[in-house]
This record gives sequence, structure tokens and C-alpha cells, in this order.
Amino acid sequence: MDGNTPIRTRFAPSPTGRLHLGHALAARVARDLARSQPGGRFLLRFEDIDTPRVRAEFYQEIESDLQWLGLPWDEAPLRQTTRGAAYEAALTELRAKNLVYPCFCTRREIQSELAHMAAAPHGPEGPVYPGTCRHLSAREREGKIAAGLPHAWRLDSRMAAEHAGPLTFRDLRFGTIAVDPSLLGDVVLARKDIGTAYHLAVVVDDAFQHITHVTRGEDLLPSTHVHRLLQNLLGLPEPVYLHHGLFLDEHGKRLAKRHDALSIAALRESGLTPEQVRARLPSACERVGGG
Ligand code: GLU
Repeated sequence: MDGNTPIRTRFAPSPTGRLHLGHALAARVARDLARSQPGGRFLLRFEDIDTPRVRAEFYQEIESDLQWLGLPWDEAPLRQTTRGAAYEAALTELRAKNLVYPCFCTRREIQSELAHMAAAPHGPEGPVYPGTCRHLSAREREGKIAAGLPHAWRLDSRMAAEHAGPLTFRDLRFGTIAVDPSLLGDVVLARKDIGTAYHLAVVVDDAFQHITHVTRGEDLLPSTHVHRLLQNLLGLPEPVYLHHGLFLDEHGKRLAKRHDALSIAALRESGLTPEQVRARLPSACERVGGG
């Protein structure tokens, strides 16, 4: 990225639940970074590919919550469900380079395989895919596909690492980080049911929306290793990252759907003003570094 390009950030919620204070923090970090320089833009993207979990009413609720909080976005919001062709094209490119393979395993088969391994591979988020389908021959793969077996597509992380060579990404808080392509193993890039997946869609859309700075919670730091690898493999630009601290509950746990009492809607309905809700977020100097 050239130093004169205006900053573009995005807030990328999934319309699968109500916004809570953790989302408000993420949106504010992205908004503030965009506003830190003249001409900066703060965008809204609905990460709605997980259609079985999406509920139509949440698009509008999320927009209303952001407006109410005083975090309006620039430009029309992007919905990932309109971007299927772009994800398909990216997957086709990776297939042509032999960097992905079809995976026919069910969740249960993967669990049983891991349970029988003497040393099951682990990443920061738990066990990683044991690589069962990586070992299928081209003929076996074709046979299963021709037989109509449902399959996901997985990144061949070893081939991808070889193809890309050493990579790094730059984070405004953590500095330069060396990419570990095996950190999350052979991640799914296209789910059996929806034909794409988070890692692929997010990388394709950050490039599409010309995002210069990707801000996200530090819980997603391991995913960024995969994203930087995919950007390289797909010839996409490299954004700067800012992995911010999370908003934690009183037990030190990341907020999730179970924290409905901390949803923006519930706080608003309890009579709090936007100023009072914003005051519950970590202050300016804390928000980048901690919760
Ligand atoms: N949709 C993701 C979330 O809600 C955003 C992830 C990202 O920033 O890449 O956590």
C-alpha cells in the first residue's frame, strides 16, 4: 500500500444475531482508524454467507444499532451473498494451481480419525484437519465427485507454503509477524453446503472493497496467517492489520450470543443513551491494546 492512499477500513458483522458491545468496539476501532486521516472511509460489509444461520431482520437491526451508536458508515453496504461468482473464480484459480483439494470427510469421520491418531495435529483453535483426503489420488477424487459425493474444498497448506515462500504481515499493534502457513492446517475454503467459506470470502472482499487496513479482534489473529497466504496465492494486495483487544465479560470471556443482556438493543431498551453505551467501551488508549 502506498502511504498516500486514503485509509479504508470495514466493519464486517454476520447478520446471525444482535450486535453487542464487542461488535460496537470493533466498529469503533475501524471507524476511528478511517477517521484518523483526511479522506478515510469506513465501510460496512455483511458477512452473510452462512445462510442457514442468517436472519433477515438482523441486517436492518445492525444498521439501526450503528446509526444509533453514532457510527455511520460510508458507501453502500456490501452483502457477501451477492459475491458468489467472485468466490467461485478465486477457488477455480486455486484449483488450477493445485493448491486445494476436495474433502469428502464428515465431521464425525474427522473426529474419529483424530481420536485414533497417536499425535493429532493441533493449532491455537484446537485439533486441525488430519489430512485424510489430501492423500487421495486424482482418480479417487474424480470418482467420488462423479458419484455425487458432497465435498468441501480445503487449502493444501503445505503446497501453498511452498508456492508462496516466506511471508509476513504487518500489524499496528504487534509489529511484523511471520506467517505460519500450517497454523490452522488445511482449512476449508468452500463448505459443502454453501460453496464458500469465511477465509476465502473475507480475503476476496477485502481486496474488492480496497480495504487498506483490516481491523479485527485479536481472537482472529491465527486466521490472518491463512489470509495473508491466500492474498499471495491469489495475487491480491496486502492490507495493514490491527488486531485489537476484545471486550470481555466479568469472567474475562469474549462476548457471544449468550450475552444478550449486553446487546446494543437491550442496552437501548433499558433506557441508556448512546453516550452511556459508548462510555462502557474501553477508552481510546485502552481499546487497541486490551479489553
Ligand atoms: N464476520 C467476522 C466477525 O463477525 C469478521 C471477521 C473479520 O474481520 O475478518 O467476527
